[in-house]
Amino acid sequence: MKPSIYSLTYPQLETWCIDHGFKAFHAKNLFRWLYQKRVDSFNLMSDLSLSLRDALASDFEMKGLIEVEKQVSSDGTRKYLLQLEDLSMVETVLMVQPYGYSVCISSQIGCNMGCAFCASGLIKKSRDVRADEMVRQLLHVQKDLDQDALRVSHMVVMGIGEPFDNYDHVMNTIRILNHDLGLAIGSRHMTVSTCGVPAGIRKFALEPFQVNLAISLHAPNDELRSSIMPINRAFPLKELMSALEFYFKHSNRKVTYEYILLKDVNDSVAHAKELAALIRGQHVYVNLIPYNKVEEQPFEQVTPQQAQRFFETLRKAGITATLRMEHGADIDAACGQLRSKKLKGCQI
Ligand code: SF4
Repeated sequence: MKPSIYSLTYPQLETWCIDHGFKAFHAKNLFRWLYQKRVDSFNLMSDLSLSLRDALASDFEMKGLIEVEKQVSSDGTRKYLLQLEDLSMVETVLMVQPYGYSVCISSQIGCNMGCAFCASGLIKKSRDVRADEMVRQLLHVQKDLDQDALRVSHMVVMGIGEPFDNYDHVMNTIRILNHDLGLAIGSRHMTVSTCGVPAGIRKFALEPFQVNLAISLHAPNDELRSSIMPINRAFPLKELMSALEFYFKHSNRKVTYEYILLKDVNDSVAHAKELAALIRGQHVYVNLIPYNKVEEQPFEQVTPQQAQRFFETLRKAGITATLRMEHGADIDAACGQLRSKKLKGCQI
């Protein structure tokens, strides 16, 4: 199979042009056709010479992803189940935020991290998602928004998979989507979310771009965190905090802690106080997320009153926090839910 044209960063495209007897500046036009005009065939790139179009077509594929299913929530959230060339499926979500249109992409097919509250963890990882497949997830959503003349302004790598387990492809995705001649999504408008892989955090701290880092924390102590997030057994909080110290020192950037509120598991006032003590003094804020019920999981949704109490306790302790609104509560909103339902359906 030929590689996808969407796998190439701008400098890689320039190198390809030079290596094939064309000028480096042709990459400029090509990038515009791919990401600004968003055509779906080399033949439509009318200001590129026929010989360049032929050379591109003989070296690269230019296919988009196949939409298997799309759910639209009453709050505007759109959830897409997209099929890749090997028939694997990924979930991609568009969220309507007060600050713009944010797309959540998946970085792996399934996930081995086994977080107890996550629908994605129900299906083991079969492979990493390549950079072109992540880029095409976002392009698919952008093309959908094109019909209403809207633009994707933010991107989060927070869907199925652990991004730092697929580090190089995730970084290339960022480089491609961030480029000025492409979709030009600002690096400060991008977020990579990890369940806490210390080596990945340290590496990410040294990257030259200003992409945000989010940590799926979900518990304020080792005992509780290990019981719902197996990664904590390999890398307990002490190691995670040490990697974050390195990150703060080298990047000077703020970190977001994601904290899913699970009824009667991690949502008490005592947990909130313990959390505040754990992260006090760090350059962070906490994103509280009410749990979305997943059929196969034993967890229940927190009450709005309890979520508010948790939030207030953090606030009084001087921790900046937001209590996130649920997105797509009337569709299969939990990460991995749509895909796992579809796969189950296929197996029956
Ligand atoms: S929360 Fe993220 S890391 Fe954990 S199982 Fe789900 S997809 Fe994997």
